[in-house]
Amino acid sequence: MALFKNSLEKLTCCFKNRGIASLAALSETHQMLQKTCRDFAEGELKPVASKIDREHLYPKEQIKKMGELGLMAVACPEDFGGTGLDYLAYAIALEEISRGCASAGVIMSVNNSLYLGPILHWGTPDQKEKFVKPFTNGDKVGCFALSEPGNGSDAGAASTTAKNEGSNFVLNGTKSWITNGYESEAGIVLATTDKNLKHKGISAIIIPKPVEGLELGKKEDKLGIRGSSTCSLMFDNCKIPKDNLLGEPGFGFKIAMVTLDAGRIGIASQALGIAQASLEVAAEYASKRLAFGKPLLKLQTIQNKLADMALQLESARLLTWRAAWLKDNKKPYTKEAAMAKLAASEAATFLSHQCIQILGGMGYVSDMPAERHYRDARITEIYEGTSEIQRLVIAGNLIKEMGL
Ligand SMILES: Cc1cc2nc3c(=O)[nH]c(=O)nc-3n(C[C@H](O)[C@H](O)[C@H](O)COP(=O)(O)OP(=O)(O)OC[C@H]3O[C@@H](n4cnc5c(N)ncnc54)[C@H](O)[C@@H]3O)c2cc1C
Repeated sequence: MALFKNSLEKLTCCFKNRGIASLAALSETHQMLQKTCRDFAEGELKPVASKIDREHLYPKEQIKKMGELGLMAVACPEDFGGTGLDYLAYAIALEEISRGCASAGVIMSVNNSLYLGPILHWGTPDQKEKFVKPFTNGDKVGCFALSEPGNGSDAGAASTTAKNEGSNFVLNGTKSWITNGYESEAGIVLATTDKNLKHKGISAIIIPKPVEGLELGKKEDKLGIRGSSTCSLMFDNCKIPKDNLLGEPGFGFKIAMVTLDAGRIGIASQALGIAQASLEVAAEYASKRLAFGKPLLKLQTIQNKLADMALQLESARLLTWRAAWLKDNKKPYTKEAAMAKLAASEAATFLSHQCIQILGGMGYVSDMPAERHYRDARITEIYEGTSEIQRLVIAGNLIKEMGL
């Protein structure tokens, strides 16, 4: 936190001298945060992102430094060890981090929005003391376990059970695809405490990790974001104290849905970072590569591509910042977060695709980052609700708003 504040002071002078017109709409704090994160991504993430991807390395050292900058708990109040900024700040920071390394982006996103977010909202003072404070400075990260082998989009069909047994819940079942599954030292697990009530019988339970009765599945070999771990959590008579129940019994599905609304702003921001990086790689390459005696950048076809890329990126960024602003101002934002996630993830896919096209053969090999951006972009259309599910959320809200 101190590091962030020091950087802010230094950066204030820097901004006064340079005047960055494109950031004029952001407050000074947001601009300074953006610059701090951009410099960090440029200096500490970009140089190692390819190695992290190639060798499937968890970026432990970088996550620790991000924690010191206050990025692992951006919107968490200072009383609980967080940075005490708003969700717009979080969105801006996450975009910049993901621009440098999308794996670091998802690790940051899960810790901030899926793990700390619900505990801050629904946790008891004891839960916050134990499960928030140690997870704010990059030393420890958390995870969020909703999906199962048999149900992803249909989250209300959770079959992992949490049986009442004296002062404990006894968990049985498997959660799948869990980001930070290997490194996390705690997690939120959605399990059914009353099967008859269907989704209204699902409860949210905080688990410490490691814990007896919990085994981890194999590390998934993924297309992209390969520096983050993804694995199953397999519960076999795993005893968790009832004190670890988050919110009321049977309130877990609601907690998951509200948490995902906020999480989608994070994934939209991750997608923006990947898209921005793709645009920069493409424009830079086009300015240097000669074809038919002149730089690609002079060809109108290439300029049209860059214009379409910039348009999709900027539109998605505005949607994302609007969703964050609505959340910060305590206004409904479910539809807007879904729109942001849908637009930004499709923008990331489109821009990274076009980036490869502009680079030609060089776009297809790992000497250049274009192919990594393309692989990293793809997941943003899948996790925290697929694009199809975002369209359902948008349409559902739209129909309600129109009174139809
Ligand atoms: C790398 C990675 C990390 C992840 N991290 C986490 C995590 O940390 N925690 C967690 O809980 N989960 C996590 N997930 C799981 C992720 O959220 C799910 O994969 C996602 O929600 C989709 O679920 P599914 O894979 O079961 O696909 P399915 O639900 O089986 O969907 C398959 C296809 O059918 C479509 N479909 C399904 N239902 C409908 C419908 N009603 N209408 C229209 N189309 C539909 C989907 O859009 C999709 O195209 C992660 C997944 C991956 C790959």
